[in-house]
Amino acid sequence: MTTHSRREFLKMSAGSAALRLVTPVAFTSSLPADTGEPGSSRIVPFPLSSVRLGPGIFAEQAETNARYLDSLTTDRLLHSFRLTAGIPSGATPYKGWEDPTCELRGHFNGGHYLSAAALASATAGNSVLKARGDEVVGGLAQCQAKNGNGYVSAFPTTLFEHLQEGKPVWAPFYTYHKIMAGLLDMYVLTGNTDALKVAEGMAQWVDGYFEGISDEQRQRMLRTEYGGMNEALVNLAALTKKQQYLDTARLFEQPSILDPLAARRDELTGLHANTNVPKIIGAARMYEVTGDRRYRRIAEYFLEEVLTARSYAIGNTSLDEHWTTPAGELKGSLGWTNAECCVAYNLMKLERLVFGWMGDVRWMDAYERSMFNCRLGTQNAQGLKQYFFPLATGYWRAYHSAEDSFWCCTGTGVEEFAKFTDTIYFHRGSDVYVNQFIASTLDWKEEGLKIVQSTAFPREQGTTLRFTSAQPKMRTVHVRIPSWTTAAAEVKVNGRPLEALADPGSYLAIRREWKDGDTISVVLPMELRTEALAGDDTVAAALYGPLVLAADLGAGPTDGPSKIIPDGSTVPKGLAKADALPKAAGADWVTVESAGELRFKAGAEGAQYDLLPMYKVPDQKYGVYWQMRDGKKNLNS
Ligand SMILES: [Zn+2]
Repeated sequence: MTTHSRREFLKMSAGSAALRLVTPVAFTSSLPADTGEPGSSRIVPFPLSSVRLGPGIFAEQAETNARYLDSLTTDRLLHSFRLTAGIPSGATPYKGWEDPTCELRGHFNGGHYLSAAALASATAGNSVLKARGDEVVGGLAQCQAKNGNGYVSAFPTTLFEHLQEGKPVWAPFYTYHKIMAGLLDMYVLTGNTDALKVAEGMAQWVDGYFEGISDEQRQRMLRTEYGGMNEALVNLAALTKKQQYLDTARLFEQPSILDPLAARRDELTGLHANTNVPKIIGAARMYEVTGDRRYRRIAEYFLEEVLTARSYAIGNTSLDEHWTTPAGELKGSLGWTNAECCVAYNLMKLERLVFGWMGDVRWMDAYERSMFNCRLGTQNAQGLKQYFFPLATGYWRAYHSAEDSFWCCTGTGVEEFAKFTDTIYFHRGSDVYVNQFIASTLDWKEEGLKIVQSTAFPREQGTTLRFTSAQPKMRTVHVRIPSWTTAAAEVKVNGRPLEALADPGSYLAIRREWKDGDTISVVLPMELRTEALAGDDTVAAALYGPLVLAADLGAGPTDGPSKIIPDGSTVPKGLAKADALPKAAGADWVTVESAGELRFKAGAEGAQYDLLPMYKVPDQKYGVYWQMRDGKKNLNS
């Protein structure tokens, strides 16, 4: 153990890290998932710059998000970073979780903001946000130079000393991770090389910080939320091919979390959901970079378990931010504080990684479920985002304030709404995977191939893909046939129906020589069904295709503190008790009024309700779950 005080040690540590011998190593994969990898056996996403959204709800939502990001100014974002580094700043600080007294300050301003700016630049060519991102990177580089030890944060190292000393502290590494991830996104997605240098300095500071700390003490420290530190460091190792960062990534591994998952044991009850999903994303990246299959088993089991035994119909999990009930037992867990939005963001990130290993359609079905039901709709017209997703009856959506909240979910929200294109198409070699039905254009320059996907999905029950190519080429196009569709699903190539059709819940592989002007048209009939709450088959949600339907329960608040939460708190004050679940009445209690307009009716005891897809509910009070008279008498039984 070192005999220096923690404060002296932190000042010295970066110097010693910089002198360390850096050994290049052979990685099984040198690239992070988002950059693609021709020739690999993995199915990988296309670079974000090669996919553009077409007209429709996703493009509109992305623009609203970009306008919100554009309303924030770099001097205000950098304020606390500058003060911490001893650089004067007269800017007005943002508030909430970015207040100069908040222990998480910097998580959004120097982290999520950078990721979102990089994503908006890569997915939509947003040059204004790219320039703002560059300014913030420049500001962080200045702060790092002034700090002189690699450290970059909007709070001083005292919080890291508290972590080491076991004193109360919120989550310093959580915030540090967001900043590293933002810098890496600016490097990978926009080519800002200064961002990579700053991230490397930050990683070296971490290495020095843990020097002299025993394994036992480190494990105690890891009980405090640390975001995806392991993921950021493994990504840095892959990008730079430097072994030292992989070693630093391993410092953030917790046997107490990973060992049970590796043994396929669910010991998640009582744990904080959003603290733990990023650790598993880090494990998934460790598998991709090191080839160690234990990490893969951990990620696959975790995802399967959380999605099947711990998730709600909307495709998200948790109550009061935790897994509060035993696996498979969500009975009695409907409230205001369900399904923190960050958790869906992180689960989807994990799903797209795990999908790449085997092409298992389940993960893309799950991705779609979350995308349409708990990501779309969680942003209002001003670009403000939701934190919790109430699932008890009679509640409504509430959003953060523009400048006085800056929740974690503000951060993951601005990222999510800037990256709708990232999972629509994947490829393996020259074969293409069509995963999501979103109007968009794939421009695959290396292959001289363009695919334009035209669809008003989910108002339209299907999609059309048109190919433009310089040269005809033999390749396989894999089209997802979702598990929710019916045997009447149909795929036509150039207007002719295919004789064989893959079953719902699989990818249809169409191998042929694809020529300029070829089209694939896909019809995916939707039907009504119910899905019981895990552990209670007397409570169920109604779905139509991938869409969770919500009962319109009348006007909710449209402004004021119960709609726009004015500060850093995440639940409106003085919230009334939820209503009782409506009781479904009759065998065919839900009917389709208009498939094109996505309007439905539901019969309940003593009332009839209008139903609409959850994502189309902006202000009304709503109900997602129903009391079934008899658990066995669901729509699909
Ligand atoms: Zn959150």
